[in-house]
Amino acid sequence: MARGVVPRQPSKAGRQEGAQKARRGFTRGASRQPAAPKQHTPVWPKSSPKSAAKAPAGYHPVAPERIREILKRLDQTYPGVTCALHHKNAWELLVATILSAQCTDERVNKTTPELFAKYPTPADFARLQPEQLEPDIRSTGFFRNKSKSVVGAAKKIVSDFGGQVPDTMDALLTLPGVARKTANVVLGTWFGKADGVVVDTHVYRIARRLELTTQTDAAKIEQDLMRAVPREKWILFAHQLIWHGRRLCVARAPKCADCPLESLCHAADKTWSTVDIHKAAKP
Ligand code: SF4
Repeated sequence: MARGVVPRQPSKAGRQEGAQKARRGFTRGASRQPAAPKQHTPVWPKSSPKSAAKAPAGYHPVAPERIREILKRLDQTYPGVTCALHHKNAWELLVATILSAQCTDERVNKTTPELFAKYPTPADFARLQPEQLEPDIRSTGFFRNKSKSVVGAAKKIVSDFGGQVPDTMDALLTLPGVARKTANVVLGTWFGKADGVVVDTHVYRIARRLELTTQTDAAKIEQDLMRAVPREKWILFAHQLIWHGRRLCVARAPKCADCPLESLCHAADKTWSTVDIHKAAKP
């Protein structure tokens, strides 16, 4: 057992305390949020959770059958989920994604309607000095850097791409403030192109808990996920992990009792477990 990790025992009622609270959390989110995911009804074993251990010999966390089962359960729980950032075109999605760094999607969605009403096109943003944009995006935090990124991206899009957001990874990465995460969001969500896997804070945490990677660098985690998950699932898989990270597999005290992946997950910081804990499987 990892130090400080005490998986809970099943209650006599067969329901973990806090499960109702977890379900209430499903009502939060942006308007593009899908219907509440299907609830998983766990059947707890009579035996107590097993103790922490290294992964047993012969255990392959990215074995195709395990990956298939993870994807199947995610599909059942989060069918058809997509990006929660409101947008009407690629430019709005790009800006919203830049603004979402270190900020909630809800806050960004409150900020962007007024912003795009005031400056409808990349050309409108390109005419600004970053300081002029700062008051409009101040509430999203880190507004000085974000202003520079948005105005810089707008200028580049107008000067080099005819005012249109480019639809390739290489071109997107030339835009100020755009790294692979933002480029993957725009390519996957707007253009439907699977060039990579979005690795945000939720994907990072869950990929490590599920032992889909042991890396700590986002670029390396993305490479591991691209190897483990079939390409046709890259876009949806990332969105599903993001929703899962918001709703159940939260950073502190994940809601494992309600998690459809529980029997496949050996994370060291689980709050409930019916399977072995692997001490290295942690965020
Ligand atoms: S069982 Fe817990 S730690 Fe594992 S994926 Fe589910 S919520 Fe996350």
